[in-house]
Amino acid sequence: MIQSETIPSVNLFGIRVSKWNMEETVAYLTEAAESDRPHQVITANPIMVMAALEDPAYMEIMQKAELVVPDGAGVVWASGKAGNPVKERVAGFDLLHQLMKTGEKRSWKVYLLGASPEVIQEAANRLQMQYPGVKIVGSRDGYFGPDQDLEVVEAIKAAAPHILFVARGADTQEPWIAKYKQQLGVPVIMGVGGSFDVISGRSKRAPKFMQRLRLEWFYRLLKEPTRFRRMLALPKFAVKVLKEKENLG
Ligand code: UDP
Repeated sequence: MIQSETIPSVNLFGIRVSKWNMEETVAYLTEAAESDRPHQVITANPIMVMAALEDPAYMEIMQKAELVVPDGAGVVWASGKAGNPVKERVAGFDLLHQLMKTGEKRSWKVYLLGASPEVIQEAANRLQMQYPGVKIVGSRDGYFGPDQDLEVVEAIKAAAPHILFVARGADTQEPWIAKYKQQLGVPVIMGVGGSFDVISGRSKRAPKFMQRLRLEWFYRLLKEPTRFRRMLALPKFAVKVLKEKENLG
């Protein structure tokens, strides 16, 4: 039986972030994908942690997720300051590819939900080409209102994937998954943000050297200056970690 309570984690302001490296994370999710119980995977960054601290409903979603992985460099840094460091950064984009790779060997079915109609179509084509052993059993764009939720959920249920990747706006993605995960009954459901835009070729990931310098957030800020306001959460997060590090861990 897989229990999130048994996942080695670091506690960041009430959110339990997994300390596993990529390999251990994939091993857990492999078992999860072949189970009959939904697992919500959240790829945490400081902006999300700060959002949770301001919004109890969002906090509850983060706390109830079966797995929260350290996606943001700031989260990795904070775990060190808390004296309970995670093994490595587990970026959502890399995790998506690792799961597709595993799915190749295990003939998994995967459903892709989110992004614009053109992006999701192109992302589905490219992923299918790159991972022919995975069956992409459905895809659909992420621009639909709450009145269409049930129709979307039913379509996914009917396709019965092992994994559902969801890319929607930061503030709707995780709540949408949390709201429907039981109804969906998909064993692994993971929010992947802008990943389909990158896979389709519409946008680029930060160059490797910037990733290594933990500056992926800075690259995104340069590319999308409108993210500036949201990124003010980063220094606030850093100050809060330094001030309260005695209570973290
Ligand atoms: N997106 C979507 N539906 C929406 C809003 C966004 O499918 O209602 C997609 C968008 O096309 C992109 C991804 O969600 O592929 C992440 O969007 P964005 O970068 O705007 O989200 P942010 O993380 O900035 O909130």
